[in-house]
Amino acid sequence: MKTKVTQSPTIAARFIQHGEIVAFPTETVYGLGANIFNEGAIRKIFLAKGRPTDNPLIAHISEISQLEYITNGVPHIAQRLLRRFFPGPLTLVLPKGERVPSSATGGLKTIGVRMPRHALALQFLRACGMPIVAPSANLSGRPSPTTWQAVRSDLDGRIGCILKGEQTQVGLESTVVDCTGRIPIVLRAGAVTLEQLREVISETRLAERKYPITPQSPGQKYRHYSPKAKVVICSYPQYTIASADAAYIGLESPMYTNVFKKHLICKNVEEYARLLFQFFRECDEEGVNTIYCQAVSEEGLGLALMDRLERASDE
Ligand code: AMP
Ligand code: MG
Repeated sequence: MKTKVTQSPTIAARFIQHGEIVAFPTETVYGLGANIFNEGAIRKIFLAKGRPTDNPLIAHISEISQLEYITNGVPHIAQRLLRRFFPGPLTLVLPKGERVPSSATGGLKTIGVRMPRHALALQFLRACGMPIVAPSANLSGRPSPTTWQAVRSDLDGRIGCILKGEQTQVGLESTVVDCTGRIPIVLRAGAVTLEQLREVISETRLAERKYPITPQSPGQKYRHYSPKAKVVICSYPQYTIASADAAYIGLESPMYTNVFKKHLICKNVEEYARLLFQFFRECDEEGVNTIYCQAVSEEGLGLALMDRLERASDE
């Protein structure tokens, strides 16, 4: 299949209407979308990515009113969170509506829903005229794509269309919050921070990080966000071993930056998060074998960044 690259949301939406799958930019990472009601199209997502079929997709909406067709009621805690954070990088896990095929949610009775804040994403979703289910637009196991070129390098010839936009702003996947219980539970940290969620609902808590409760967040059990190179998290940049096969990314400079094959010193945690996955991909292309990543404090966006670094460094 030849993959069409376009800047037009209406052309991209036509592929969806014909049962094809389309990569599109959002503020977090690029997504790979299908019509939520088309089982054949949903199957194409799992095939194109090589994604395990029990790993649920996230439904993307452009209007709050679309919740009615895809959920079975919106719990009160979810209403409070969506009033504050939609549109934005927050996915709410809600009871699934019967019309949504169970293949979209990996067989779960719940569905993750998000309304992106990204102008081109919203234009595309409106042109589609229906909710779009989408995981990240990478091959399974690879770092999520933050540029359209990264999507092309993973999925060229495997998907119908790429809607071409800028490099994504956040650079990490959305915050996922389970809203099916009495209090919100953060299943995956992201750009909407725990601190911000607690400003709305103070009881909000984190799910167990190392051993997530599988039925709640199946995706979290898979190896994610990983470059081919070995990722080593270091608290102190001076303890890295500079070499021509190694790379370094962090907030502070190590002693011998020029000995590294590649290095990137970021202004702040936001920039670190925005550039991390692209840096991983470049390291792989350039044959780096060890990537040293400086640890950051687990506050604000730092919690999500450390989560991705830890997953990438898992053996
Ligand atoms: P991706 O967009 O590629 O990061 O994949 C979506 C991820 O969101 C999944 O791997 C899960 O971790 C999470 N997710 C989506 N839907 C649900 C759900 N119904 N329950 C729990 N977690 C979900
Ligand atoms: Mg993904």
